This record gives sequence, structure tokens and C-alpha cells, in this order.
Amino acid sequence: MERRQKPIPVTSTERELLQKQKKRYEEGTGDTGDWGKFLGTITLLGLAAAGIYGLAKASARSQQSVDVQCSECSEKFIMAISSHSDRAVHTVCPYCGAELVVYLE
Ligand SMILES: [Zn+2]
Repeated sequence: MERRQKPIPVTSTERELLQKQKKRYEEGTGDTGDWGKFLGTITLLGLAAAGIYGLAKASARSQQSVDVQCSECSEKFIMAISSHSDRAVHTVCPYCGAELVVYLE
């Protein structure tokens, strides 16, 4: 899918909006300074919001894994994460193959 690879065009208005979003993100997460991480997270969440990916919520988070319920088929599976995982992680449901964004809260 080529549209997923496209760089995000940023106008000055959008940059201002991004700055605001980044500030909110940093205040909300205490995760500061890393633009790459921030953009990765909001891009994934944006794609989920646009319906390109399903947004799945994680529960029962431990250091190494989270329980994920697929938003497409409702099956539950365990996804491995690391302490360096971003706030939003792209994964594929092992049951139905749906592409999911898991939001780690
Ligand atoms: Zn599924």
C-alpha cells in the first residue's frame, strides 16, 4: 500500500498544529523532545482514526506484553512489547489478519 509510505506534507499551519499537539502529548505523557516518536505515534493514531487501521486497546499491560482485543474479530491475543515501545504500536491480528494500531496507555 503506497499511501502508507508517503511522507506527510507539512504546511506552516499544520506545523503550528503539530507543535501544539506535541506540547499536549508531552504534557500528557512526560515524553519530551523526541519528534520521531511523537510523529510515529500520531501518524499511527491518525491512520487508525481514518479507518486505515483498526484501533485496538491494550489491557493487562506488563513489562513484556499486553493483552490486545482485535477490533475486527474480537479475538484476544498477547502482543510482546518492550519498555521502549512507542505509545502506539502497529500489529497484525493473528486470527483475522487485520492491521491494528494498539494504543498503550
Ligand atoms: Zn482479528
